[in-house]
Amino acid sequence: MTSTITALTSTVALVTGASSGIGRATALRLADRGSAVVLVARRQDRIDVLAKEIADRGGRTVALAADLTDPGPATGAVDGAVERLGRLDILVNAAGVMLTGDSVAAPLHEWQQMVDININGLLYVTRAALPHLIEAAADSPRQVADVVNISSIAGRFPILNGAVYNATKFGVTGATEAWRQEFTRRNVRFSVVEPGLTETELFGHQQPAVQERLAARFADVERLHADDIAEAVEYIVTGPRRRAVAEIVLRPTDQV
Ligand code: NDP
Repeated sequence: MTSTITALTSTVALVTGASSGIGRATALRLADRGSAVVLVARRQDRIDVLAKEIADRGGRTVALAADLTDPGPATGAVDGAVERLGRLDILVNAAGVMLTGDSVAAPLHEWQQMVDININGLLYVTRAALPHLIEAAADSPRQVADVVNISSIAGRFPILNGAVYNATKFGVTGATEAWRQEFTRRNVRFSVVEPGLTETELFGHQQPAVQERLAARFADVERLHADDIAEAVEYIVTGPRRRAVAEIVLRPTDQV
C-alpha cells in the first residue's frame, strides 16, 4: 500500500463481483491506489477475507453481500456504500456469469441467470449509483466520476455456442456507450472493458461437457490474468479529467 497522495485518494469505489477473479483483482488495485473500496458479491466469507487483506495493507474497505439479480439488495448495496463511506466516485460492474453450450439443450434457467446478473444486475446497480456519481463528479478534486463495465470479447464479436452470453454482453457494451453519451457532459465517464480468455472461476460454472470442450479448444492459449484486466481498469479511472476511455479490448496474444 502506497502512503503517498495518489490519483484516487479520497475517492470511494464500489466493485461488484469482488469475491473472485476480475472484480477481486480490481478491488485490490483500486485500494492500492488509495481508493476506499466497497466489495460486493453474494459470498460474504470471500469478501470478508478480501476486506481483511485490504485493511491489513492499510486500505479502507467495506464488504456488503448482495445478490444483485434482485433490485432491492442491488440498490441496498449502493445505498449501504454511501451510508458507510459518504460518497461514490467509481463503480466497476464486474459481476457476471457465462453459461454457454448447445442452444437446443440449454436449460432455460442458465439463460435466465445470465440475463439476470449480466444485464439486470448491472442495470440496477448503475441506476442506484448514478445520482451519487453525478454528485461526486461535481464536488471531488478529480472533477470526474467513473463507471467501468466489464463486458467481454463476446460483447464485440459473437462467439459460437454463446448466443445468450453474447446478447447480454452486447447489451452491456451498447448500454455503456449510450450512457457515455448521456453523462459525459456531467463529467461521469462510462467505459467498457472487453476481455478475452482470462484465468478465473468463470468457466467452472459451466456444464462439465462444455468445460471439457472449451479446455480442449483453448489448450494452447496462455490466458490473461485477472490482474491484467484490473490494470486496464486502473488506467481508465486514474486518467486526468480530460481523458475518457470509451472501450478497451484485451485478448491473450494466443487467442485468435
Ligand atoms: P468469476 O466467476 O471469477 O467472478 C464472477 C463474480 O461475479 C464473482 O465475484 C461472483 O460472486 C459474482 N456474481 C455472480 N453472480 C452474482 C450475483 N447474482 N450477485 C452478485 N454477484 C454475483 O469470473 P470473472 O472474474 O472472470 O468474471 C468477471 C466478469 O468478467 C464477468 O462479467 C465475465 O462475464 C467477464 N469476463 C470474463 C472473462 C474470462 O475469461 N474470465 C472474459 C470476458 C469477460 P458470488 O458468486 O460471490 O456472488
